[in-house]
Amino acid sequence: MTPSCSMRSRAVAARGGGCEFPGCGRPPSWSEVHHVVGWQEGGPTALQNLVMACRVHHRLLHHSEWIVRIRDGLPEFVPPGWIDPERRPRRKPLPHLVAS
Ligand SMILES: [Zn+2]
Repeated sequence: MTPSCSMRSRAVAARGGGCEFPGCGRPPSWSEVHHVVGWQEGGPTALQNLVMACRVHHRLLHHSEWIVRIRDGLPEFVPPGWIDPERRPRRKPLPHLVAS
């Protein structure tokens, strides 16, 4: 891993506080960087193209019909039609906006 790569990982971790999948609370140390547009398809390794996902949700994004995209600088997750026929995007509440 190059220094710039680890810096980007930290920036993504700082935004999401770990896995950014709605309802998931796994910390950054359990999470991996997922490219919204795969680097094989020309997606950049840039904050607007990266989300943190734990191993379970990273696999889900690659092997199911869940879609992740960045809107207004934050990731939103679109469920498969069998979970939500209207496929309404879901977001994880930001940690500093959640009452504890
Ligand atoms: Zn997760």
